[in-house]
Amino acid sequence: VNEGRRAPVAFGVDIGGTKVLGVAVDHTDAVVGEARVGTPASAADPAGTVAGAAAAVADAVAEVVAALGHEAGAGADPASPVGVGVPGMLDRDGVLRFSPNLRGAVGADMRALVAARLPLSELLVENDANCAAVAEHRSGAARGADDAVVVTLGTGIGGGLIGAGRVVVGAHGFAGEIGHMLVDPSGPPCPCGRRGCWERFASGGGLGRLAREAAGAGRLGDVVTLAGGDPELVWGEHVTQAALSGDAGSLEVMDELAWWVALGLANLTAVLDVERFVIAGGLAEAGEILLGPTRRAFAELVEGSGARPRVEIVRAAYGERAGAAGAAMAARDGGLW
Ligand SMILES: [Zn+2]
Repeated sequence: VNEGRRAPVAFGVDIGGTKVLGVAVDHTDAVVGEARVGTPASAADPAGTVAGAAAAVADAVAEVVAALGHEAGAGADPASPVGVGVPGMLDRDGVLRFSPNLRGAVGADMRALVAARLPLSELLVENDANCAAVAEHRSGAARGADDAVVVTLGTGIGGGLIGAGRVVVGAHGFAGEIGHMLVDPSGPPCPCGRRGCWERFASGGGLGRLAREAAGAGRLGDVVTLAGGDPELVWGEHVTQAALSGDAGSLEVMDELAWWVALGLANLTAVLDVERFVIAGGLAEAGEILLGPTRRAFAELVEGSGARPRVEIVRAAYGERAGAAGAAMAARDGGLW
């Protein structure tokens, strides 16, 4: 036991496409514990039963909360508030209405399912990207920016909107589905059922697609070797790693990705007059090799570039923990505000 460590006061869990990540936060918003399990395979399976998939996800959440409590030791309060971030369109009653990345659980009352497994805890269940926005706005890279967007570039793209200092949830709780802005109506199919959504181009999945195109055209020789010799086996992670070590072909692919990221940010700026974008999610790990070219492309793409104050594009402070940390903070403080 680390005697100097501060006591956790709330737990947060972020249900992702590949992992269920939990953190404990203290009263200063610092992350003081972490636990994770894999996302149940049934969560993404549209052929299984909703009840089975949703129960498996709720079980995973309870398992992560138990692990966080165990890690916190004897001093942990079993009734600590718990916040849960859910990917997709969650209505204000806690029912998952639409979710390309958690499609097996669509229709389930996620709030009731988790509450049944954590009967002692005060519980908050919210959209995952809204939770990430809470963390970054209160104590992270969006602090002090009352008109900001937290953009989570992961498998897909999540968005948390901050307007006039508050999280904007919309009329039904569905605001911030920025990954599904259409940017090319004849583009590649999206798990949401349409074509050419922004997240098909500017996410980790989009990077993989751009990378395989470049590999197929012979522009990524070293990376293809790294991936085992087959251009079809090149993933976004391979290109990110190679770009970080200076591979010229991979840096070109990152520039292409940055253009697509900037296109969406320019559209959001036209609607919302944003003062700062905070980039979170797995792709944020690429840092300046993505953010530098994104700033340059944004300056060319945004309306009235020379006539508006500079819009900041910065990396998230909480990294991949933003959703879980924000869920914990919101649970601790009784809501998103
Ligand atoms: Zn879509």
